[in-house]
Amino acid sequence: MTDAPDGVPVVVALDVGGTGMKCALVRPDGAVVHAERHPTGAERGPAAVVDTILEVAEGLAGKARADGLTPIACGIGVPGLVDEAAGVAVWSSNIGFRDVPLRELAATRLGLPTALGHDVRVGGLAESRLGAGRGVGHVLFVAVGTGIAAAHVVGGSAAAGAHGAAGELGHIQVRPDGPRCGCGRPGCLEAIASASAVGRRYTELAGTPLTAAEVADRAAAGDELAGQVWREAVEALADGLATAQALYDVETMVIGGGLARAGARLFDPLRAALRERMTFHREPRLVAAALGDEAGCLGAALLALDRLE
Ligand SMILES: [Zn+2]
Repeated sequence: MTDAPDGVPVVVALDVGGTGMKCALVRPDGAVVHAERHPTGAERGPAAVVDTILEVAEGLAGKARADGLTPIACGIGVPGLVDEAAGVAVWSSNIGFRDVPLRELAATRLGLPTALGHDVRVGGLAESRLGAGRGVGHVLFVAVGTGIAAAHVVGGSAAAGAHGAAGELGHIQVRPDGPRCGCGRPGCLEAIASASAVGRRYTELAGTPLTAAEVADRAAAGDELAGQVWREAVEALADGLATAQALYDVETMVIGGGLARAGARLFDPLRAALRERMTFHREPRLVAAALGDEAGCLGAALLALDRLE
């Protein structure tokens, strides 16, 4: 239903998170020509969220046409378990998706070929093809935010796993006697080294609520307690990344999410801690993600374009 065949082609792209949706019109070369944000409104239940996704996507396609552009495809990234081959949002803890055939729903509503992807995998796709992993054949993208998850991207394509659950790096057990994770096991990586875990741990010990970035600042300023919490997180993260390197043997690890905003305060000790853990494995290059907030939308657009080919 592309009614303006001469217009510049664009992809309608949505990156659906637990609290907000980032949305964009993306040209095939990766340029964002329009961006908007909407609240996810997860508290309204998954059916209402699906309605909002479809309305926003339809609105973006209409906006494209009104601006003389031609929407050629739609790409949507969502959290949780995603069956990318079937186009189904299988399960999500923060939005409540249970087997939602989101690709089919969007394709029908928009009349456009649509791709559905996992939020971290599409982020990894974008970082490996347009961002910090550009030109690298084997990349592990690790998002360290409220949780920790990874995408293994080889030759510009991210492996989803047999059940849509590849890359759950946050649930590697690194401290068997550590704090209990949201998944129920004790000592998962994300229970210790996620941005939320770092803030929570400091608050527990000091009684003052701080974000992970503030803990990093205080640690750098010589606050002993902050230094201890930060070191524990860095050591745990290095354990997780060493395990990942044993499994994946990548050239570059791209670290994104809230924790990566600590910059050198994260990367300097993390590189050193990871180096200590390498025996015969080759040390990967550790770099900060380059695309920031836009990675999800760009990756969703790339996934949609891949499906057109
Ligand atoms: Zn866990």
